[in-house]
This record gives sequence, C-alpha cells and structure tokens, in this order.
Amino acid sequence: MALKCGLVGTGAIGRDHLRRLSSTITGVEVTGVVDIVDGLAGSVVKDLNLAVEVYPSDRELIHSGVDAVFITSSSTAHAETAIRAIEAGKYVFCEKPLATTAEDCLRIIEAEKQYNRRLLQVGFMRRYDKGYVELKEIIDNQVIGKPLTIHCRHFNQSVVENYSTSMLITETLIHEIDVLHWLVNDDYNTVQVLFPTKSSKASSEHIRDPQVAVLTTQSGVVITAEIFVNCQYGYDIHCEVVGEEGMASLPEVPSVRLRKNAASSTSLLVDWKQRFIDAYDVELQHFVDAVIQKGRPEGPSAWDGYIAAITADALVRSQTTGKAEPVVLADKPSFY
Ligand code: NAP
Repeated sequence: MALKCGLVGTGAIGRDHLRRLSSTITGVEVTGVVDIVDGLAGSVVKDLNLAVEVYPSDRELIHSGVDAVFITSSSTAHAETAIRAIEAGKYVFCEKPLATTAEDCLRIIEAEKQYNRRLLQVGFMRRYDKGYVELKEIIDNQVIGKPLTIHCRHFNQSVVENYSTSMLITETLIHEIDVLHWLVNDDYNTVQVLFPTKSSKASSEHIRDPQVAVLTTQSGVVITAEIFVNCQYGYDIHCEVVGEEGMASLPEVPSVRLRKNAASSTSLLVDWKQRFIDAYDVELQHFVDAVIQKGRPEGPSAWDGYIAAITADALVRSQTTGKAEPVVLADKPSFY
C-alpha cells in the first residue's frame, strides 16, 4: 500500500519535491497540497499535470486522511505545521531548517516525546550525497586517521535582495552545520563568525557578505567555513578534511574539459537545485521506505534539527558580539 501524503508550501523546493514524489519516488501517493499564496498550489498542480486536491490550509490537509506531511513552506512556518501534524499522529518530512529558533525545535521534540519515538525527518539532504557519504566512510574507517581540521566553502552566485546577514547562517551555513558534526560524529563546543572586507557585489547595503565561521568540536576538531552568497561565479561547495595520516576532499562535480581559444576549462554549476539533485531523490525515497517498512523515519531527526538551530543561534550571537560563543545542548531524549 502506498504512503498517502500531503505537501505544505508549493514554492521553489515544494514544487520540486512535488514533481519528485509524483514521478520518481516509489511507494508514495500525493493526495493533497496547500500554499498560503492565493492560487499558487492550484497552478503548480496544473503545471505538473497532477490530479491532487488543493486544501485551504495545512490544518485541513493534515486531517484529510494522509499518512505523512511534507513541509516545504517558508522556514518561519515549519514549527506550527510540524507540531500540528505530529499531534495528529502523522509522519513528517520537514525541509531544513527544522525551525527558525532552538526553542521551536524543542517544542517539536516535545510533541514527538508523547509517542516516545520518532515521527519526523529533517531535509538535510547532504547526508545522502554520494561524495559526503564516501567522505564519512573514509573518516569512520580511519583511512586518514583522526580528523584534525576541516575547511569548507558554501558559495552562491547571488541571492535575493532581502537576504540578510543572519540568513547566511540560518539558511546557507545550516547545511554545513548539520553535515560536519555528522561527518566527524561529534558535537560543537564553540562557534564564531569573522567578517572579512565586504564585497562590493553584495546583494544589498545591509548584508555582510562574505563571512567566515570558525567552529570547534568537543574533541578539538577546528572547522573553518567560508560563506559567500554573492560570489558571482557559480554555486560552489567544497569540503576538505585533514587527518593525522592524510587528507580527504569532497569530489568536484564532473564536467567535460573543454580546450578552446588557447584555454582549457570545465564548467561550474550555478543552480543549487542541480548540485544535490540525486541526493534529494535518495533522501525522499529513504524517508518513504523507512516509514513503510519500519514505522519510523531514520534520516536526520528533530534532534539534529535542534543541534543545527542552537548552533546557528550561537553563530548569529557571535555576529554581534564578535566573540566565540558556546554551544550548550539540552538533555537528549533517549529515543533519538
Ligand atoms: P518559497 O519559494 O518562498 O516557497 C515557500 C512557499 O510556502 C511560499 O509560497 C510561502 O508563501 C508558502 N507558505 C508560507 N507559510 C505557509 C503555510 N503556513 N502554509 C502553506 N504555505 C505556506 O521558498 P523555498 O525556496 O521553496 O523554500 C522553502 C523551504 O525549503 C525553506 O525552509 C528553505 O529553507 C527550504 N529549502 C531547502 C533546500 C534544501 O536544499 N534542502 C533548498 C531550498 C529551500 P509566502 O511567500 O507568502 O511566505
């Protein structure tokens, strides 16, 4: 029997996931969608040529007989829909970030606690990317010895004008915050943000772009992560782990090498949707399969969402204080 699901939020990623759930992922049937923008959900359903009911609000969709709810609405709306869906006993796939504050993540964790088991998975898709998975295997198998430092880059060609200084952390770096502690199987200790000279190509007057985040883990790994969301040249993700016995890097995205006009070149991606396109497929299939076969999701949990949010909060604090800020976690419920 297919998992019946509804999707909340039919903007950029919602539309993409809707297409994925309707055409690529097996074992799932999308029965309903909703978006607060008048007419948007209906036009997306029409564009994708789907026979799917459009509901007036997330509440109606949650109570429409679905087994699972996919939350792809704006980040500020995630917490309320997630709590409503969990309280109705639904499985939830929630796009990252789980919520925009650590307090809201804890409210979601409290909702799951009533069942003493997991119902929710967060959309940290990098954990499903082939390159990151291989990097983790290398670290876990001690191929490069104990990890000492990590250097990463998260660059976007450009962002919308209302992108803010804190969003470089809460919307962009949030992916590294999650994937890096998973890679080294460690928790964060302190985090700090440094501001290099502001780029004259920054998308607005008020945004600080680029930024450098320095994160230390409990075991002493030092991570430097550069975030530059108006880098102009493309979408560029890089991660290099230095260990006691060697170094391992995320593979470059394959691209044909071109020799022309006395130059040799390869192309870079510009669209973030293309960079992790396979990972999104694997991630959603893993969620559906785990729910059907094991009755619980097994990917990134609400606890992982909370770790990311509390770490992001500390980084945003550091943007103001200029200091290294501690990351102090609440007590972890035993079912995570
Ligand atoms: P988007 O294009 O703005 O789409 C979000 C849509 O949800 C908007 O139409 C929005 O309306 C609507 N919405 C807001 N609150 C709602 C509610 N309570 N019920 C129903 N619809 C609601 O944003 P996006 O780029 O698709 O991003 C959506 C989420 O996915 C964000 O949390 C983002 O961080 C995440 N994301 C993840 C990845 C990834 O790589 N995993 C990539 C992109 C985005 P309004 O415009 O009126 O708010």
